[in-house]
Amino acid sequence: MAADIIDGKAFAAGLRETVGVHAAAFAERAGRKAGLAVVLVGEDPASQVYVRSKHRATVEAGMESFEHRLPADTAEAALLALVERLNADPAVDGILVQLPLPGHLDEQAVIAAISPDKDVDGFHVTNAGRLAVGQDGFVPCTPLGCMMLLSDRLGDLSGLEAVVIGRSNIVGKPMAQLLLGANATVTIAHSRTKDLPGVVRRADIVVAAVGRAEMVKADWLKPGATVIDVGINRLPPVPGSDKGRLVGDVDFAGARDVAGAITPVPGGVGPMTIAVLLRNTLVAAYRNEGLDLPEGAL
Ligand code: NAD
Repeated sequence: MAADIIDGKAFAAGLRETVGVHAAAFAERAGRKAGLAVVLVGEDPASQVYVRSKHRATVEAGMESFEHRLPADTAEAALLALVERLNADPAVDGILVQLPLPGHLDEQAVIAAISPDKDVDGFHVTNAGRLAVGQDGFVPCTPLGCMMLLSDRLGDLSGLEAVVIGRSNIVGKPMAQLLLGANATVTIAHSRTKDLPGVVRRADIVVAAVGRAEMVKADWLKPGATVIDVGINRLPPVPGSDKGRLVGDVDFAGARDVAGAITPVPGGVGPMTIAVLLRNTLVAAYRNEGLDLPEGAL
């Protein structure tokens, strides 16, 4: 039987709507809108597209969007000074510095300068630490979005075998922490893992965050497994078209016959990232104002 498709696009639309409702309630109680500041340094085309869609989504959710575009040759001191100003600005609840930064800028130093309470990307070491020890903080948007899809599909994850492929700070490691926090038995696989297919075959839950087109094959999967495909890879164009197809890290066509449920690419994890960014910004706004979000709201 073909796997169920986990519709991240629909889930994300629902989450954005919920954020919108609570953003309106926040504005009423706080006397101001929640605000997200996005900093873009340079002219990387993909980053420009991301920043534009973040801006649009923020405004659509009824929140304030502050955009700061800086030239590619911006000095690190100037960028750090901007981050300091945003840290101190009471209209700004969340700060996002779009990565990657131009090569002369130290990404870790810039992330470290963001106030952990405005770090809605969840990249600051304080937030990584909070996640590791189970304290409230901010969790990176993509893995938190994956977790929402998993909880929606599976409910209680206690005792399930989860394999996360990829160990980046942005996806793989926080994903593993979230699964551990939900009482799954977690394995992190990576480029040095021996017998990756054998490891993946144990999993009730597979999260693939590698960046290699269609690497995970159908015969790596345990029948009925839930598969979350984080990868976004563009295949080479076929003759006659100028752009190749977007595919994930999982061989979707094959995996559909074995998995119990699977996220498509596009339309799976991708739309969750921005929706969770809006959610994190709203949570930051409630916390920064010392207001309680309604129980179970987001
Ligand atoms: P990364 O390059 O930082 O990390 C990739 C990880 O994969 C590494 O930990 C590496 O050990 C592992 N890896 C590499 N080759 C491997 C192999 N042959 N076998 C097993 N593991 C291997 O990438 P990232 O930032 O974690 O992103 C991963 C993928 O997810 C990329 O395709 C990226 O575009 C995508 N992504 C999507 C979203 C989204 O919104 N959907 C967000 C972030 C990243």
